Amino acid sequence: MRILFLGPQGSGKGTQAKKLHDKTGLPHLSSGDLLRQAVADGTPAGKRAKQYMEAGKLVPDDVLIAMFGERLPKPEYNGGYILDGFPRNLAQAKALDVLLSHLNQPLTHVLNLTIDDGVAMERMTGRRICSNKSCGAIYHIKTAPPKHDAICDLCGSVLMQRSDDTPEACRERLKIYHDETEPLVSYYQAKHILHVVDANADPETVFAKIAEALKLEKMSAK
Ligand code: AMP
Repeated sequence: MRILFLGPQGSGKGTQAKKLHDKTGLPHLSSGDLLRQAVADGTPAGKRAKQYMEAGKLVPDDVLIAMFGERLPKPEYNGGYILDGFPRNLAQAKALDVLLSHLNQPLTHVLNLTIDDGVAMERMTGRRICSNKSCGAIYHIKTAPPKHDAICDLCGSVLMQRSDDTPEACRERLKIYHDETEPLVSYYQAKHILHVVDANADPETVFAKIAEALKLEKMSAK
């Protein structure tokens, strides 16, 4: 399966993609994580991306298209993967289609996680992440708080807020989502690979709907 998660920030794409990775073993490719790593490593792509990311704006398409164009042809992605955060506009979606048609490996499923803007804002601005990159645990100050204030339950590192999870950057990111990413819903609907999943519920309920859309239970029963 070659799966793409669509949905606004705060819809739980990252959480659900991790769950799906745990269940299926498919590699999870998050454009946000790859970009944050490039920024931390100080690569040329990271240096270009940094200012856009801090402002909550989209990083130029060529950076993302090169990033995924290098990775997806690698043997470790031959057996499928989970894309999260890329593509995020029509130009990126078309570039991905060209790449995947060269590889003869089109996307098989697009999962559109839908959520109300108010819920998305609350989820993003309350999110806290573990500062230890190899841990990466995600908390929420209201719905999934750590046992001890601002300390990761799993590894004891300090929790932090992403610089683009401030209310101003979140509003900007949601606006961009509606303007630029939402048109991908009809793009993939026309290809008959779109599944809509209501993501206003808790993570377990949402994952059950995803498993149903992907027919995972039937697969593992075979
Ligand atoms: P995310 O973790 O998915 O919210 O991404 C964090 C930030 O990385 C976004 O606000 C953008 O600045 C940048 N970014 C991630 N994916 C893309 C993409 N496909 N195109 C452009 N910018 C992106």
